[in-house]
Amino acid sequence: MKIFKFGGASVKNAEGVRNLYKVLRKTDHKNTIIVVSAMGKTTNSLEKLVDLYFKKNEKLYEHLAEIENFHQIIVKNLFGSKLSSVHTLIKNIIKELKEVLKTNRSLDYSFVYDQVVPFGEILSTTIIHKFLISNQIESVWLDARTCIKTDSYYRNSNLNWNLTIEKINSQIKSGNTYITQGFIGSDLNNFTTTLGREGSDYSASIFAYAINACDVTIWKDVPGVLNADPRYFSETTLLHHVSYREAIELAFYGASVIHPKTLQPLQRKEIPLYVKSFLNPMKNGTSIAKGKSLVPSIPCFILKPNQTLLRLFSLDFSFIIEENISDIFKLLHLYQMRVELIQNSAISFSVCISDKYDRLNELVAKFQSKYNVEITNNLNLYTIRHFDQNAIDKIKNNGKKILLEQRTQNTVQFIAD
Ligand code: ADP
Ligand code: ASP
Ligand code: MG
Repeated sequence: MKIFKFGGASVKNAEGVRNLYKVLRKTDHKNTIIVVSAMGKTTNSLEKLVDLYFKKNEKLYEHLAEIENFHQIIVKNLFGSKLSSVHTLIKNIIKELKEVLKTNRSLDYSFVYDQVVPFGEILSTTIIHKFLISNQIESVWLDARTCIKTDSYYRNSNLNWNLTIEKINSQIKSGNTYITQGFIGSDLNNFTTTLGREGSDYSASIFAYAINACDVTIWKDVPGVLNADPRYFSETTLLHHVSYREAIELAFYGASVIHPKTLQPLQRKEIPLYVKSFLNPMKNGTSIAKGKSLVPSIPCFILKPNQTLLRLFSLDFSFIIEENISDIFKLLHLYQMRVELIQNSAISFSVCISDKYDRLNELVAKFQSKYNVEITNNLNLYTIRHFDQNAIDKIKNNGKKILLEQRTQNTVQFIAD
């Protein structure tokens, strides 16, 4: 069997769903598990819903009505005369979501988030499944929560591999076409969990690993993996082939085209990953597999925005040594900071971090009791893999002030304003 994954951008409207259908018609869609994300920016909208809920904001139900409306417009466009049954299905899913909000007693933000935000994937897969059926693509709607089993670390759950493999294999029969949700799973108490934002790529690779799939194709709004994100860089080149190892490095440094956790399960079973354009499904795109590191072998640029640079100085001019460094890392871990880059000197320690969970102020307060702390926000972290002088000049000559630079054999990084 093979795995297809369609992200939010590919199904952001009715036209996107029709295009997904066309892609399935052009490719062989039998014997496939199709993993789908929430439509367009629905996950962001549902995150906002959780926020309104916790703030007891009166706009809560108005916002929920907007989410329903967005999906009902797509349903109306897709189903025309056969509208009523799918319309009712969506209504009922929204009712269920309202019920979750009404009956909830938990004050745990992450738990509630995971009971609410996955509705985006339930809505999208319901619509897509019904659309395929009504266009003679026989398919089975599969609830990913009965397949992907995790711990209860809500919003960023860890996989229970053995149970997941067992659950998936007991439900999947080869020859069928399945439509299932990315991003979501459930814990041992059957509460819904999520694998972290953008986690649907990872879901696709979990299914692939569990069933020993022959390959995985991720359908994107770009021709494949490029040597730079086209949103930030004007000149980009398609990478035809990337090794697992290089792809893991690119994802780690922030190439957001693939979720970083996606590659390891595939690499372990040597399952190839294809990244292709959902607008040009017959074009080759990029293959991530065994073999050469990078074809063509060119510098790759990665930009991570919204970085914070913290510089810690000892209060009394004493050295920053192992003991302080270990203490600094404990706090970074405790406050859930993602550490992107570190550099130290005798009396200072610099660390570039992403404040994913909005806890920077708490962390800084802790540090200030022991160090002089200098904070610079809103920075960009540029990484160039396989750099040459020309590539370095491109970043350095773009008028930005470089605050920190670090080089290893294959990689150079700059923190700039
Ligand atoms: P999905 O709909 O699957 O969630 P994403 O929006 O997460 O899709 O990923 C596709 C986007 O990734 C592209 O539109 C592009 O802006 C961005 N991107 C970042 N780095 C790269 C890269 N190296 N190559 C191609 N696209 C990239
Ligand atoms: N819908 C989720 C998100 O937007 C998961 C995904 O798209 O990969 O983060
Ligand atoms: Mg995505």
